[in-house]
Amino acid sequence: MDFTNNDTEKLIIYGFGRVARCCLPKLIQDFQIDFIIDNNSKYEKNDTRYNGIPIQSFMSVKHKLQEKKYKVVVAVSGNSYYPIKKQLESIGYRESIDFENAKNFMSQWYWINRSECVISRISLPITLKCTLNCKHCNTLVPYLDRSRVYTDDELKETIKMFFDCIDYVSTVLIVGGEPLLKKNLIEILSFIQVNFHEKFSRLHIISNCTIIPKDDLLQFANQNNILIRLSDYSHEIGNYDRIKKIIDKLKAFKVDYIVNKHEQWFDMGFPRETLRIADSRENLIRHMTECNAMCQVIYNKKMFFCATQLGAFEINRAYNKDILELDRLIVNSTESKKKLLDYYNGNLPKGIRFCQLCRGVGPKNNKIVTGGVQLKRNDEIKIRKPS
Ligand code: SF4
Repeated sequence: MDFTNNDTEKLIIYGFGRVARCCLPKLIQDFQIDFIIDNNSKYEKNDTRYNGIPIQSFMSVKHKLQEKKYKVVVAVSGNSYYPIKKQLESIGYRESIDFENAKNFMSQWYWINRSECVISRISLPITLKCTLNCKHCNTLVPYLDRSRVYTDDELKETIKMFFDCIDYVSTVLIVGGEPLLKKNLIEILSFIQVNFHEKFSRLHIISNCTIIPKDDLLQFANQNNILIRLSDYSHEIGNYDRIKKIIDKLKAFKVDYIVNKHEQWFDMGFPRETLRIADSRENLIRHMTECNAMCQVIYNKKMFFCATQLGAFEINRAYNKDILELDRLIVNSTESKKKLLDYYNGNLPKGIRFCQLCRGVGPKNNKIVTGGVQLKRNDEIKIRKPS
């Protein structure tokens, strides 16, 4: 990629949503950012600035982008990347040369120029217990063997092993199952804040809106600038009143939050279907890299490429290929950082072979289903056996 060079000093950031706001604290330390592009009209109307940097719409800066080639880092989530890619290509910008997504840019630029392992986000399932039983859950929670217990010591060791081998991660996603089921959630959050606050930008907690958060958690979230991300499945589970109560409480405690409505999901197939997605190694790797589910997960001293790979391993330990063993990495060693970064970026000779069994979350998966559909007790599910 062209602009991983050390002489890249100026960047334009495209996006001012949650992805951008997690990357910006790191990027403004190392680059001059002339403006941020975001097409939400509220920013331009109110002359919104981030650390003095103006936020402007694509149309209002299009002429500047055309006059001279800037280096643009696109900091948006999942499929929102593709329309921006099209827009930039329409004015002659080339992917990987004039623009790049934030995940690739950060992991490559800091490694090439500073030998630093910098990644954009990591998921930390704090419990795999859940209050819901979603048929198409990406962590496969309804299909898991629940007899396995993951102790707090193992959880803390896993967190430490991960932070010992990275230099910076923009966002730490506290996920589940349902994280609010974790009894000592504040203790674990404090452990991360106290020990590793210099290595990340922000903690996010993703909750399914079935539990009203307790006062002490919200006080802690307010004091530590934690973002609560509410997943809204009310169209399926009808918890409208509860969501309203949760939002009222978050407002009362001045906790930053967002609501994500999950009306549509992808049916990834596994573990109900027997799939064989790709007919060659190249096609498998392409399928894997096009998948927008890629949010690497740390769990029980291991790193998984995505939550579905973790779920499969928890269903059956025979799904054990292409998992990074964190306890084999050496604290702060360059070699271990590189190993972690390569895994994070999917730079593996055979790719993630589990992707062969999974349709993934990408433009080619056309099996769209209603988000949050619950498995019923008498639903008969056949779990595919490892081959
Ligand atoms: S295709 Fe691969 S990366 Fe995508 S969700 Fe499935 S297992 Fe995960």
